[in-house]
Amino acid sequence: MSATRDPASIVDPPACYACSVRRSLRDVSPIAPDYEIRSFECPKCGTLLRLVAKCETCSSDAAG
Ligand SMILES: [Zn+2]
Repeated sequence: MSATRDPASIVDPPACYACSVRRSLRDVSPIAPDYEIRSFECPKCGTLLRLVAKCETCSSDAAG
């Protein structure tokens, strides 16, 4: 058996350390041609966790 990674795997939202519940994706803001900030909100305490992730669905249009 081998652990394989799906190429089109969806990034799982991180969990809130205080509530131990899964956060939900609240907002996505592009910061660079290939990068974006994903805001995850905790449904219980309402805190936001922002993570910088590589945008896999963005169409790289800024060439030159
Ligand atoms: Zn929480």
